[in-house]
Amino acid sequence: VQCGRSDELEESRDKATEGHGSGAREVPPGLLEKLVYDALVWCSLHGLVVGDKSVQRSGTDPGIGLVHAPFALLPRPLTDGYWRQACELAPIFNELVDRVSLDGKFLQDSLSRTKKVDAFTGRLLDIHSKMLEMNKREDIRLGLHRSDYMLDAETNLLFQIELNTISSSFPGLSCLVSELHKGGQTVAVVYFRAGYSPNDYPSESEWRARLLMEQSNAIKCPSISYHLVGTKKIQQELAKPNVLERFLENENDIAKLRKCFAGLWSLDNIDVVKSAIERPEFFVLKPQREGGGNNIYGDKVRETLIRLQQEGSEELAAYILMQRIFPTASLSYLVREGICHQDHAISELGIYGAYLRNKDKVIMNDQCGYLMRTKVSTSNEGGVAAGFAVLDSIYLT
Ligand code: ADP
Ligand code: MG
Ligand code: MG
Repeated sequence: VQCGRSDELEESRDKATEGHGSGAREVPPGLLEKLVYDALVWCSLHGLVVGDKSVQRSGTDPGIGLVHAPFALLPRPLTDGYWRQACELAPIFNELVDRVSLDGKFLQDSLSRTKKVDAFTGRLLDIHSKMLEMNKREDIRLGLHRSDYMLDAETNLLFQIELNTISSSFPGLSCLVSELHKGGQTVAVVYFRAGYSPNDYPSESEWRARLLMEQSNAIKCPSISYHLVGTKKIQQELAKPNVLERFLENENDIAKLRKCFAGLWSLDNIDVVKSAIERPEFFVLKPQREGGGNNIYGDKVRETLIRLQQEGSEELAAYILMQRIFPTASLSYLVREGICHQDHAISELGIYGAYLRNKDKVIMNDQCGYLMRTKVSTSNEGGVAAGFAVLDSIYLT
């Protein structure tokens, strides 16, 4: 997923690893193998390789004996603040190195006792003092340094391990590892087969993922707005007089839509709530939920409405009331779990619609197939997966 803000990603990674000092996340076995395989291919293709010590000619003959550099499969979480702190320090250390390098006496004095016991440092100091004697000036000065840090768990402070001023290794490979780790393929389409029920969001991390996807440039099916348009509440609002006219121009289309709207009411409508309490069998009470099995029928409609009214609660706004539809029941054979039942059954027809739009251009807007579901007429709900209905097809007459 290409995200608008990468620090968002970092944050969700932090959260995902909270309490895990190692930063290790569980990757499902099948996915793990695929990730490792893809990562190794990536290393070979992008030069994330080092000399292979087990090959004799490696290091002398170009292109011979290369092996992938050792790498971590997933990036390590790091809190934004520490990252910024370390980055801010770099130019300050650069300046410090330059200033100290100009103070020849400070260098010689500080290392004078080391010189006595460490011949190597001694040789370096000898060269340095020769330059001092010559009064050699370095007008053009080039530093490529690397300051290393560790985060101390006790104090939560970022402490410098050391400052490297010579042969600061791995800058070339390190940026390749970043490329390797980049959460690198653009996701074009996010299709939701889940995410419509509260059960799909057991923790805040699923909500963060939903937000992250929404912030991305991927095509969402559906976007958060499309998702909301499908709520029962919006269905009820659209059925109010003059609301369709806000969104559509073609009067014919508006008339066609309105013709298929059953009675729909919000619970602000005291008269309808009263009728529903008197004759609940003519109504369905619906919360803003998807997936079947959430609606309220019959005596439960009465009980719920009375309770909500007594509590005078805001909870009224969570529901809508709908006129109950009574299709003609006919004798059918329904097969479930290998057993065929004959029963009076009613059907619900679903027509699929596909719409693809890019700015002003509607690329696709079509009816694309149907779903016929049939259930025993005594059952209220109609879901196949929810266990109420069977899949059916149409025989046109
Ligand atoms: P969901 O989004 O959970 O599928 P629905 O509004 O489609 O919610 O309701 C689920 C089932 O309840 C439908 O498939 C249908 O069988 C039944 N149902 C819903 N509304 C009505 C209604 N107004 N009259 C009769 N049955 C209904
Ligand atoms: Mg639905
Ligand atoms: Mg439905």
